[in-house]
Amino acid sequence: MVEKIYDKPEIYRVIVPLPENPLRNLNSYLIKSDKRNLVIDTGFNRDECYSAMIEAFEELEIKISETDFFITHLHGDHCGIVGRLAGDQSKIFMGETDYKYLIGDIEGVSWDNMEIIYEHEGFPSDVSERLSSTNQARKYMPDRIFKALTMSDGDIIKLGNYEFRCILTPGHTPGHMCLYLENEKLLFSGDHVLFDITPNITSWQGVEDSLEDYMKSLEMIKNLDVNITFAGHRESRGKLSDRVDEILEHHRIRLEDTIKILKDLDRPLNAYEITQRMKWNLRGISWQEFPDNQKWFAMGETMSHIDYLVKRDVISKKYDKDSGIYLYSLS
Ligand SMILES: [Zn+2]
Repeated sequence: MVEKIYDKPEIYRVIVPLPENPLRNLNSYLIKSDKRNLVIDTGFNRDECYSAMIEAFEELEIKISETDFFITHLHGDHCGIVGRLAGDQSKIFMGETDYKYLIGDIEGVSWDNMEIIYEHEGFPSDVSERLSSTNQARKYMPDRIFKALTMSDGDIIKLGNYEFRCILTPGHTPGHMCLYLENEKLLFSGDHVLFDITPNITSWQGVEDSLEDYMKSLEMIKNLDVNITFAGHRESRGKLSDRVDEILEHHRIRLEDTIKILKDLDRPLNAYEITQRMKWNLRGISWQEFPDNQKWFAMGETMSHIDYLVKRDVISKKYDKDSGIYLYSLS
């Protein structure tokens, strides 16, 4: 589905289906100009996403050879299909850090390591084994790595008379980028700010405290002069600064919940045990029935909050030699 959402420049939203995924859809934004066109984010590496994009190009009479792509971050629902879509004459812009993560160019960082890290945090190995074949984020990544022009904070992408500024907003991913059209006060926020759901913040290899990074990136974006935010998923509504405050508050509550769990039980817990005790939108099902990949996301989210509290010495982390698992208690 394609809809026009802005006049000058001409901006369209393509709703790209993400089958069997709780996110439901990705918003791909297409900016049409008489010189080149720019597509922001693309969808998973699966046929449904590819078809949705191709249909949009046909409907808008856009040639791929005249179209470039900007990828806000490394997640498969944003970059998965870009390599298949882009033509030889298309440029693909992507933040430098996320591109390095994507191509495996960061020492010691790999998916297999992540499984080992999770298991040392108490995550059940049978769940992570099942996940290694079914995890959509992994399964629908690009088959082959596309070539990207890597962008740094402040870099400009020109489209006719319009200048889009790349803004580095680490947190959701280590090198997430938003795109800002200052003259029109428009912000393409990727998954940095979402309105109907809260962006997932997780613990990343090679990042000490991704929640701190995320909160700083939120504070930074809050000060931008923005009339309309175009988010990566669902609808955008209300003022950006109000939404930023809500998301910040959400994480403060989560931090308090983490502390409360440790206080109430009064014994050291591993991260998985803390995760099970956090509040999740379980829709009436028990933690045991929670889908594997939701358990994985919940675990990562909890770990990012634990990291934040450990860094501030609110809770302390000890390695339990017998079990090979880290345990947390209030400092
Ligand atoms: Zn996303």
